[in-house]
Formats: sequence, structure tokens, C-alpha cells
Amino acid sequence: MDVRSLRIALISEHASPLAALGGVDAGGQNVYVAHLARCLARAGHRVDVFTRRDAPCAAGVVQVEPGMRVLHLDAGPAAPLPKEQLLPHMDAFGAAALQRFRHGARYDVVHANFFMSGLVGLRLKQRLGIPLVVTFHALGLVRREHQGTADGFPPEREAIERHIVRFADRVVAECPQDRSDLLRLYDACAQRIAMVPCGVDPKQFAPGSKAQARRALGLRDDEFVVLQLGRMVPRKGVDTVIRALACMDPAAPVRLLVVGGSTSEPDERATPEIGRLRAVARECGVAERVTFTGQRQGEALRACYVAADVFVSTPWYEPFGITPLEAMACARPVIGSAVGGIRYSVVHGVTGYLVPPRDPPALARRLEALRADPAHAEALGRAGMRRVRSRFTWERVAAELLEVYREVVRRRGRAGSAYPLPPMAADGARSAAWPARRAASERLPGARA
Ligand code: UDP
Repeated sequence: MDVRSLRIALISEHASPLAALGGVDAGGQNVYVAHLARCLARAGHRVDVFTRRDAPCAAGVVQVEPGMRVLHLDAGPAAPLPKEQLLPHMDAFGAAALQRFRHGARYDVVHANFFMSGLVGLRLKQRLGIPLVVTFHALGLVRREHQGTADGFPPEREAIERHIVRFADRVVAECPQDRSDLLRLYDACAQRIAMVPCGVDPKQFAPGSKAQARRALGLRDDEFVVLQLGRMVPRKGVDTVIRALACMDPAAPVRLLVVGGSTSEPDERATPEIGRLRAVARECGVAERVTFTGQRQGEALRACYVAADVFVSTPWYEPFGITPLEAMACARPVIGSAVGGIRYSVVHGVTGYLVPPRDPPALARRLEALRADPAHAEALGRAGMRRVRSRFTWERVAAELLEVYREVVRRRGRAGSAYPLPPMAADGARSAAWPARRAASERLPGARA
């Protein structure tokens, strides 16, 4: 067994492990990076997380706990920016990272998260020869398939992702669907894909008293409570849940709790999606039965899961989806879209049910069935809890990723020091935003052009 402690650089350009969660750009990736870094540090490794400075007051280096630091790099204005607008600042981010790497710690491995961090990781690999592992968290071509013209990312994203898939030492797929998307859409090399899912912390998310949680949240005991929780963006399909409510028995005491948003109050100015969803609820005649809470954290977040009879997540597509795991850890049954990671984490008929995305009547039928049979709902919830505790803990995820890191470090040792990376294919997909000139000028000696 290789017991050497590693020095690991996690790059997560827009998703800081220190951010408050629930807004448009703060969700699963932040949780992933935070828990991964913490678990690796607690296992004796030294982890630095590199993220963009998005507030002037953010300290350059934050020691989060022993072995885990967050480093804020200057790249663009020290203010929040939508992730769709960050690519032009990745040249500065990469230069700042390179500077840190040269004058600071010597890292054994870089694990980049999201395609823009992957771009930075390639530059570090090319210049310093550090092996690169990449988790995309979302793939541009999948997003485009579903979002079409509403996708605000620059078109260069595809070429950048292809380049990363080709030259990263390992690409982490989060679920079988992610793996097949990488193979189908990006011609990834199967041997260089490692499948490692996301996780949940069973100490943070655990079952509790439903009655107590409802009292704390001001919810009635006699209502069937359906929980929807997550970032407030259209692709999460919250409108499908609202429309499903309109297909249910109008006399039944049903409440839909919608948790998430940029602020702790359900403020339509801060989170315009809440305004859109409220309009959908009014149009469907169910506004009285829908409660928007705004963003929740910590114990209040767990209380939402514990108070619910069922957790619902019906996105159009889902690279992984951590919220179903959190619900399962709290022993709640999950009804989810039969897409992406949800198809992997939720076992149909065992821990909940899978329904087609954008299908309110199908969802309503499953909700009615669970409402009519609370004992069955409880049994599904308990099965879900067993499933996540045995397969989806962050500790296990970190241990599996550590194996991936060790493997690329070992191979790196055998491969020598050269990392010939050709520039991205001359496919016209570059723009001023893509630092092609710099990439070319940084090519390693002896590298093929
Ligand atoms: N979340 C939160 N507070 C909120 C809304 C969401 O802490 O008000 C968290 C949620 O608990 C989960 C993450 O944000 O850990 C969302 O992750 P998921 O993978 O489900 O979705 P993604 O953000 O990756 O699309």
C-alpha cells in the first residue's frame, strides 16, 4: 500500500468551497470540492483549493483546517460574475496559478473542476509537468443539447473540452451516463476515464423527527410535504413539480416546499427564477400550496429534508445531482427524473421512483401513490439511507479519487518530464478569449507543434 502523503491542488475557478449555496452558480461543485478537500486533508494529505477572488475582502490564503487551504487568485474584477463570463479571465487565472505553483508548494497532482479549470490545469501540466485529473461536472455539448440557444457559454467551450479530454491524464465521470457522454460526444479514451460518483456526509444529513422538523419550519402535521431543493435555474425543472401539483387531488392537503435561491428570503429580485415559478404556480391554480423559502444552510437545510414526506428532483438533465443523496441520507424516498446521475443513485422501486423529465402527470401519479401508502414511502426512504451509507459517502469518494491520483503520479514517474501538448485544433473555434497564443508560446521544448 502506498502510504505517502500527497500534495494536491484542486482548481475550481467559479465554485469556492467557502461560498453560500443555493444561488445560480453555487451548488454541487462547491460541495464536491469542499468535501473532497476536507476528506483528503483529514486522511493526511495537503490540499490547496484555487478559486477566483470574487470579493475584495477575500484573503489571499484561507487556512480552512489543518491540511486544507483556499487560495483566492486575482482574475477579472473582485466581484461575483456569472460563470458564463469567466472564460476571458482564465488567462489571468492561469498566470496567477502558475506564479503560485512556481513560488509556493510543489504539487504532486492537479485536480481541475469544470472546463475552465481544466484549461488552467493543462497549462500547469504543460509548463510544470504536473499530472492532471479533471472532473467536468457538466459537459458543454450535453448542456447545448438541452438548453439550445439559452446556453450562454462561449462556443469555444466545446474545443476546450475536447482538448482537455484528449490530454488530461484522467477524466472523472460521475456516473455511467457521464461516461457514455464522454465516449459518445467527445471521443474520450475509455482507459483514461475513471468513474467516481459524488457523495454525501452522513453526519451532516441524517434522519430525525419529522414532527420536530415541521414545528421548526412552521409546517402543518397533516400535510403531505413534497420537497424540491437546489439551485434555482430553469433546467432543474421545478416547474414540472409545480405542474404535477395541479394534477393531484385538489382536496388533498399537499404542500410543495421549494428551497433555494441567492438569498435566505424568497426574493424575486435577487432570484428572478422564483418570480417565474410563482407565475407558473398562479397559472396552474396551486399558488396557495407552494411555499418558497429562499436559501437554507446547515441544520435548517437538514430540517427541510427531515420534514418532507418525499423529495423530488426532476431536472431536464443532471450530470450527477447531490440533493437526491442528501434526501436519501435523511431516509427520505426520492422521485427523480430518469436522467444522468439520478438514474444511477435512485433505484427505481427500491429507494424511490424514476419518472420521465418534463412529465407532470407521471410525477403526480407517483406522488399520489406515495401519499396513499406512507409505510411504503418510509421503507423506500430507509432503503435509500442504506444505499448512500454503503456507496456514496464523501470518505469513499475521496479514497477512490486518491487511487486515481496515485495512479497518475506513478505513471508520471515512469513517463519522464516531457509533456508535449499540441495546441488546440485549428478549427476556428478560438477567439480572443482563448489564450491560444500563450499556449503556443508555452509549449515545452521538444514538443510537437
Ligand atoms: N443547497 C444548499 N442550500 C440551498 C440550495 C442548495 O445548501 O438553499 C445545496 C444542496 O444541499 C446541494 C447543492 O447545493 O448540496 C446542490 O447540488 P446538486 O448536485 O444537487 O446540484 P448542482 O448545483 O450540482 O446542479
